[in-house]
Amino acid sequence: MTPIARPSPNQEARPDGVTPDILLLHYTGMESGGVALERLCDPQAKVSAHYLIEEDGRVFALVPEERRAWHAGLASWGGESDINSRSIGIELVNPGHEFGYRAFPAVQIASLIRLSREILERWPIPSWRVLGHSDVAPLRKEDPGELFPWEQLAGEGIGLWFEDEKKDPRPLPALLAELGYGYLREDEAAVIRAFQRHWLPAHMTGQGDEATKRRAAALLAVKEARA
Ligand SMILES: [Zn+2]
Repeated sequence: MTPIARPSPNQEARPDGVTPDILLLHYTGMESGGVALERLCDPQAKVSAHYLIEEDGRVFALVPEERRAWHAGLASWGGESDINSRSIGIELVNPGHEFGYRAFPAVQIASLIRLSREILERWPIPSWRVLGHSDVAPLRKEDPGELFPWEQLAGEGIGLWFEDEKKDPRPLPALLAELGYGYLREDEAAVIRAFQRHWLPAHMTGQGDEATKRRAAALLAVKEARA
């Protein structure tokens, strides 16, 4: 399926020698896909993404993958803060927590899986760098949110999921920092909550309990085995 061309003026060259090694997923958080598309193409708004996927599965291409789009904002992952320069951003149409957060339709996720697989073939993006906006901006963002089917995507080879639960002697903040999370010194509870939103969504407490520690350790074990 060829994406529908909808070029956004909100783009620029990536810095010399920098290629994408993060796939960053968002929800639009607006009343409709049409409104979101307008905004992502509005030069005044100064925001964009490489792709937008409608709830009916249509894919719009806004910014070429080799160019820098403007979707991450103030963010951090693995000690790096210029996430836009090194990521490809996909916006999934969903009203979000502000306008009526709801499950992502199967046809929308099917399009996302197809598109993500193509992106992962084109660029060397490791599974542990397929992330949500809330992972890289845990103090500001909740998207794509706890209804996003991360486990299903991982089953399709997109992103990191855990295998066996593990014990690890390191404290939870150290495990989360090792996974890539920033902002632990600013607001540890918010970071724990962002981790849970992605990898333990039935348990979004913001507390570093045993279940959360075991899940973080399990993910790190998979990451370290693949790295
Ligand atoms: Zn976002």
